[in-house]
Amino acid sequence: MTTVSANVMSRAKTPFINEALINFSQEEQQRAQAEALAQVKSELGQTYPLVIGGQEINGEKTFASVNPSQPDQVIGYFAAATIEQTNAAIQTAAATFETWKRVPASERAGYLFAAADLMRQRRFIINAWMIYEVGKSWVEADADTAEAIDFLEFYAREMIRISEPQPITRTEGEDNQLVYIPLGVAAVIPPWNFPCAIMAGMASAAFVAGNTVVLKPASTAPAIAYQFMRILEDIGLPKGVVNFLTGSGAVIGDVLVGSPKIRFIAFTGSREVGLHIFEHASQTPKGQIWLKRTILEMGGKDAIVVDETADLEAAATGIVASAFGFQGQKCSACSRAIIVEQVYDKVLQKVNEKAKKLVMGDVTQASTAIGPVVDENALKKILEYIEIGKAEGRLLLGGKRQGSGYFIEPTVIADVAPDARIAQEEIFGPVLAVIKAKDFDDALTIANNTEYGLTGSLYTQDSQRIERAKEEFHVGNLYFNRKSTGALVGVHPFGGFNMSGTDSKAGGRDYLLLFTQAKAISTKK
Ligand code: NDP
Repeated sequence: MTTVSANVMSRAKTPFINEALINFSQEEQQRAQAEALAQVKSELGQTYPLVIGGQEINGEKTFASVNPSQPDQVIGYFAAATIEQTNAAIQTAAATFETWKRVPASERAGYLFAAADLMRQRRFIINAWMIYEVGKSWVEADADTAEAIDFLEFYAREMIRISEPQPITRTEGEDNQLVYIPLGVAAVIPPWNFPCAIMAGMASAAFVAGNTVVLKPASTAPAIAYQFMRILEDIGLPKGVVNFLTGSGAVIGDVLVGSPKIRFIAFTGSREVGLHIFEHASQTPKGQIWLKRTILEMGGKDAIVVDETADLEAAATGIVASAFGFQGQKCSACSRAIIVEQVYDKVLQKVNEKAKKLVMGDVTQASTAIGPVVDENALKKILEYIEIGKAEGRLLLGGKRQGSGYFIEPTVIADVAPDARIAQEEIFGPVLAVIKAKDFDDALTIANNTEYGLTGSLYTQDSQRIERAKEEFHVGNLYFNRKSTGALVGVHPFGGFNMSGTDSKAGGRDYLLLFTQAKAISTKK
């Protein structure tokens, strides 16, 4: 064993622990973040290339990523990949797979540890890119970077674990083993809302398992993905293992997903695009000798249920944090508060009071909790839903756009019927529908009555109801007496049921298996 791989093996044996969040109440940390924001500000507006096989290729056409707080500020210009360039990226990944798949698992895991270390060093800078590019508050941006570090640390250890001899039943006269081998070329297609964590998590899971990657970042968050590419370059990841392909999903998505050289797709995003990919990937174009695997994590219509025994103060705090954190733009966001009749008015009042206090505005300031929504399309769509909501319920708070950025006030709409559109469709913005239930049974029925099943939360002091909800509340991530957002890698493996996706459980022990195929090998003695 080389010293490098011995070091990796010994690091892999240390238990995984979640990365601590930065404490921005400390002056030193505040200063570091402010300095990073100033540095990143001085770098805004540059032009970025595609990276295929380590080669930087400038686009004939580019598109701009802009600051949603201040849409006239360009974050960067990114190459709009052509169909030829998309095919070139796939071809390069396919050629690189032939060498990368032979690199030992410990060496591959070593790259993830190295990337985690470098991301720690660049933490404030990466936070700053997220604050500018997608309008995250400091705390939300830092949690995103911390989660990315967690994924790198976790999947490195997981790769070592699954590369070790696997438990298998013994039989006389034969030696048997089961090994997990890579699949091939991955199309990794992340969303913009966790532009560091989900992007780095899906990409690193793919390549640590021995696959090569075409990474197509979301068009509203390519600068953050480019920062990750720089980290991979700086740690010396072999060229062509991860290829950076920017461009509109609507233009190049079908070529990427449909290519006979793509072996699997790791996607996180909307239900609409996820379903399209699912159908498209099921086809077997000429020359394709496998069934494509799809790992698809999609939307949610997540509920927090509050019964009459609950700590109402804690419930209201959890609802507000889950509904309005990152402007409600989380797949795990609470978009339905389902409250039993007996305590409905009290909880509603508390939610209203707490939501009113949220500070919305300039996310480059430490004290700001609420920033803009991601782009003009999101702004229009959310405002349309607010209009629909005003007709479907009683507007209690917010409802309006603010300023020249894409700011929408935290909005609470009360007395919404369980089957109303704003109680069924994912809005993906700071809009909370509050629904009155007759009792706990009714609340549970309402909670389950959507086509999604991602996260859910129940506030109650009744242990029997907790046991019932464990059986009957049909969501991939179920929480009791806590908010519905903030899943931690390793602690809360994350993924949803039904139209929320394939329940791939990112950050869990099953995840890397989705990026491999198992080979059983039997030798007669
Ligand atoms: P989208 O579905 O709009 O986009 C996701 C990615 O798909 C982007 O990179 C996008 O590229 C790309 N894409 C778009 N069209 C195609 C296509 N035809 N073929 C291939 N790729 C395509 O989602 P958002 O980025 O808006 O993310 C928000 C959604 O993600 C919400 O629904 C949210 O609930 C969900 N989500 C789910 C999570 C989960 O774990 N279940 C976690 C986080 C978010 P482009 O940007 O160029 O259009």
